[in-house]
Amino acid sequence: MRLPNKKQVNKLTPEVLYCPIIEYLLGFMNDYYNEFKECPHCKSTDCKKHNTIEKLFCKVIVNGKFVDITVYVQVYYCNKCKKTYFAKSPFYEGIMYCQPIVDLCLYFSAKNPYNRIENRFLEMGIQIDRDTVRNYAIKFESKIKEYASIKCFDKDVGINLLKVMFDVNNVQELRKKYPHEKYDGVADETYPAIKGAKKKFKEENRIKKMKKEKPLNYPTGFTLAVGYFAMLKLYASLLINKMPFNLMFSSVLLLPMLGADFITTDGHLAYNITNKFARHLRCLFHRLKNLSKKDKILIKMKKEKQPIDNIKEYLSNKYKDLFENKIKELKKKFPEYFNSEGSFLGAITSNSIEGGNWRIKFELRTAYSVKESITARTILICLNDSIFTYRKGRPIESFAHKHSNFTFEKIMKT
Ligand SMILES: [Zn+2]
Repeated sequence: MRLPNKKQVNKLTPEVLYCPIIEYLLGFMNDYYNEFKECPHCKSTDCKKHNTIEKLFCKVIVNGKFVDITVYVQVYYCNKCKKTYFAKSPFYEGIMYCQPIVDLCLYFSAKNPYNRIENRFLEMGIQIDRDTVRNYAIKFESKIKEYASIKCFDKDVGINLLKVMFDVNNVQELRKKYPHEKYDGVADETYPAIKGAKKKFKEENRIKKMKKEKPLNYPTGFTLAVGYFAMLKLYASLLINKMPFNLMFSSVLLLPMLGADFITTDGHLAYNITNKFARHLRCLFHRLKNLSKKDKILIKMKKEKQPIDNIKEYLSNKYKDLFENKIKELKKKFPEYFNSEGSFLGAITSNSIEGGNWRIKFELRTAYSVKESITARTILICLNDSIFTYRKGRPIESFAHKHSNFTFEKIMKT
């Protein structure tokens, strides 16, 4: 058997990155937590001291060696329900490492695939492996489901991110708290490929080509759908599933957006129920795409193999007309969405989610095979993308950063 390679902090890593962190963590060594709290099982205060146990706070790497930082925690015994529990201490229930390390894992999971986080920790002199990070993210996912899942026939289908960040069920309730904000909703879906699916897809299409069969259009993917508020830069809802997007999913996705000023969608048939939740607008890009499929002039231009610039010009004029008509219509319906220069401020395309090429997909970076792993990362990405203090190269505080009460602890201690 080959022994694992010795883990050590890279000598290129500046000391300022790991020395203060290791020193900070070593400061917890042998700490004793005994502050009383009521029984978490039955809320009784009729409890007595039981025994003290040693717990692993975290592992640090000092001069190429792992050092266990351990602390002591008082165990209490409840006279009423006869169960034992820990005194107040910086640990989440059922998780080995301390809360600051778990929170850091979750924080990093919003910005890095799981395998990269192990190395981020190594740079800081902390030992943790990829599977542990992934397990913590999945634990977070199951806790968030307990806290804010949107159910359909008793099954957890989606996540209500407004509940996670603001403890409200929908925009109607959020609007009561913040009546002067603009709630322009956007809903869209994408299909990130399942791990290994792209390779399989290519192979299958090669065989189909040889047999002269019709090729498959896409590799198998997860259905990832989100609801978003473009002006507030805020994610409202999320669902990830292995089934194609359908009417049931859209009703789950739109539920937290109930009471929005309007909701822009790509016009997928499943969004036909949008009017139940708010006024429904169709994404202009998607509309143009659909119109151009039937556009006789365009079809003729393509048939005649006209230069691409002519086609582009035709399309951009077409879009201009569509856009101008749309703006006229919107001015009547939503005058409060126009600034003094006469520009519309809200979202008229689903581009705010896509941001070029779907920011979430970009942040995911790699393909996933397990639904829980991709869901956990996507939730964290959405939260991180909503709660920010810096964007487009300058400091800027988001609506959710100002007003949300979200913390990892709020969810993990559910
Ligand atoms: Zn009890």
